[in-house]
Amino acid sequence: MEKLVENYMDFISRNKTERLCVRSAIEIAKKNGYKDIEKVKTLKAGDKVYIDKMGKSLILFDIGTGDISKGMNILGAHIDSPRLDAKQSPFYEDKLYKTGIVYLNTHYYGGIKKYQWVALQLALYGVVVKTDGTTVDIAIGDEPDDPVFCISDILPHIAQEQMKKPASEFIEAEKLDAVLACYPNVKDYHDPENNKYTAGDGKNRIMKILEDKYGIKEEDFASAELELVPAGKARWLGLDKTLVLGYGQDDRVCAYTSLIAMVEGKAGSRTNCCILADKEEIGSAGATGMNSHLLDNAVAEVVARLNVKANPELVIRRALANSLMLSSDVNSAFDPLNPGLFDIHNSSFLSRGVVFNKYTGSRGKSGASDANPEFIAKVRGQLYANDVYFQNAEMAKVDVGGGGTIAHYAAEYGMSVLDCGVSVLSMHAPWEITSAFDIEQAYKCYKAFICLE
Ligand code: MN
Ligand code: MN
Repeated sequence: MEKLVENYMDFISRNKTERLCVRSAIEIAKKNGYKDIEKVKTLKAGDKVYIDKMGKSLILFDIGTGDISKGMNILGAHIDSPRLDAKQSPFYEDKLYKTGIVYLNTHYYGGIKKYQWVALQLALYGVVVKTDGTTVDIAIGDEPDDPVFCISDILPHIAQEQMKKPASEFIEAEKLDAVLACYPNVKDYHDPENNKYTAGDGKNRIMKILEDKYGIKEEDFASAELELVPAGKARWLGLDKTLVLGYGQDDRVCAYTSLIAMVEGKAGSRTNCCILADKEEIGSAGATGMNSHLLDNAVAEVVARLNVKANPELVIRRALANSLMLSSDVNSAFDPLNPGLFDIHNSSFLSRGVVFNKYTGSRGKSGASDANPEFIAKVRGQLYANDVYFQNAEMAKVDVGGGGTIAHYAAEYGMSVLDCGVSVLSMHAPWEITSAFDIEQAYKCYKAFICLE
């Protein structure tokens, strides 16, 4: 168990963006016999393939011995996490006050409490794509010799006005700009004769550094995808190796355990499928999110390579409609410091096993897929048979808030889908808390699930 959790900690420490997750997941899949579907002309039972969608989401298939139109066993999780994205014109220098500070201008991605992202070591990851089609990878802040980035905050001594504001206004989104550079030395920027500071050239210096190191120019950032994330590794939290503290555990804790269960598993009669989706944190929109034809297009590619006699369109529809899916995403762990937010009888607790959410959503289950009891019973039975610990929960008290997952997009195909995942304390914070036991139970749950007949 410790090995699985330490491998997981290493995975989330090295893969802090969806692109890096896809890249590492492909490596893991290849080591386990998976091939790029683009390079495969026909498929038969026992074949394993993956579909890489724009390097941002990934779908794996392990072809079963039976008729695919009887449905698949699908594990689905998302690999994007809340963060700060660089804007399209990301660099600016404070010229008004001539501080010489150069900032990276950001736009937050997903649901964050903005005040949590100031005064924190940040790393910058992503790609810059040049017009000649070449892609430059950026990764700064996690190697021991790397610099880091930081968004400054007001010192408490003079924060009286700030401290009166509600937390939602405490740090404005437009002030979530990270420090990139400053005047290195007053002598270069000060004209002692006239006692004047010259306008800075900090931005130019930054551009020069970027051009020398990466061969990229300022205009190239218009076609870039740069993400500011917490710098540093996932660590054991506390003294007893019970808890894990790490960035992006929503939802890489489900994604990693699903992936490992998938590649270690072997399809029986039903084809197994594992979806690592992008864009969940912003509503699953976009071509790499689940609110697209990501899944049915992928299944169509598989069906096109199988020796299928029936009408392929019907086979695809039946394969999807008859599928069973665990939509795996994290759930809020009961928080003893804020017990009033939770219905204690319907909460998930750290270290009590994988969590089932029959429904998610908010305001009267709005946006939930609300799983069928017949399907839940089937999953429950399988988990009992495989000694997997699980708990049933809602996110919080009714009408306290809520959230959605990818489940209802999968349900649109008519399949049976159940929300399932790992409890997280401080979900969506830069550093989130999970339990090692729950990570292991999630992995065991996914392994058992893909063996359903
Ligand atoms: Mn999530
Ligand atoms: Mn989330």
